[in-house]
Amino acid sequence: MTIALAPGADARAVQRILAGLGLWTRRLDGGGGETLLEVLPHSARVSRRTLLEIPGIRDVFLPESPHPRLDTHPAVVRIGNVVIGAGHPPVLMAGPCAAEGEEQVHRLAAAVARAGARVLRGGAFKPRTSPYAFAGHGRRALRWLADAAREHGLLLVTEVMEPAAVDQAAEAADILQVGSRNMQNFPLLHAVGATGRPVLLKRGMAATIDEWLQAAEHCLAHGAPAVLPCERGIRGWDRGTRNLLDLGAVALLAGERGLPVIVDPSHAAGRRDLVIPLARAALAAGACGLLVEVHDDPGAALSDGPQAIRPGELAAILRPAGPLYSTGTGDRARPLRP
Ligand code: PEP
Ligand code: MN
Repeated sequence: MTIALAPGADARAVQRILAGLGLWTRRLDGGGGETLLEVLPHSARVSRRTLLEIPGIRDVFLPESPHPRLDTHPAVVRIGNVVIGAGHPPVLMAGPCAAEGEEQVHRLAAAVARAGARVLRGGAFKPRTSPYAFAGHGRRALRWLADAAREHGLLLVTEVMEPAAVDQAAEAADILQVGSRNMQNFPLLHAVGATGRPVLLKRGMAATIDEWLQAAEHCLAHGAPAVLPCERGIRGWDRGTRNLLDLGAVALLAGERGLPVIVDPSHAAGRRDLVIPLARAALAAGACGLLVEVHDDPGAALSDGPQAIRPGELAAILRPAGPLYSTGTGDRARPLRP
């Protein structure tokens, strides 16, 4: 971003005001006696309108955005009868990691609806690290999920992994999920966008925020009406949790960019005891929805059992967050609530 000063303006005085707003600048000679200030990359983001109100600033030139559609993305998205975004109650999306059977899907859909979920999650096509692991029941699971969602008044979000399966997934689901491993699978992003369904776009486990935003732009540029960016933890070096939940990214996308951000605490934590604290922290950071894995017999789950919470624990996620741990006694912190 470049700022042009008005003729005769005191550049140092303007730079001081800008520094007070967190903008660090370098003085350039614009030629013809004009003074320009180049805003350095680590500066805070301040709107053009605010800058133009500062005495001594004549004009503000913004660089061309790499994601113009995302820049004007609505903060609030309506999908069917569900409204997701700032100023609206957080939307709970919950269900099994994988749809394991028709009866299981119906049972869990009923349970998550009772706990306040508005969207059923569940995978028919599962990306698995091991080629020998359960990879989902495929097309028939889409039918189980769609029927169960409809029966219990829920929307359905489900993952699609390849362009060839996009149409069948779009027929069954209200929201198409692109998984972390596919965040930069551009043909998939284009095919998903072209269905006209909203996209829940997981952040790649090693993706920068900018790469994530540009992946969202790919979906929008190819026809998606809305993108829900979903933070699910990035790869950290500590194996104590499965991933490292980047709440800074959540606050940035929600607060600074006004995007309807979803957080998946299940894949971030990788263990069920941390799912509720992370979910509450996510809502405090500005997430407007949660994607949570639920199983009624986690020990027997065909995928991601260790991070699945039981249906009875789900309702606690939406209770208002207070302090989650007692502190300051010198004793080990004790959970205040399970
Ligand atoms: C999932 O939601 O089941 C999943 C596979 O998530 P991720 O892409 O975040 O690993
Ligand atoms: Mn999973």
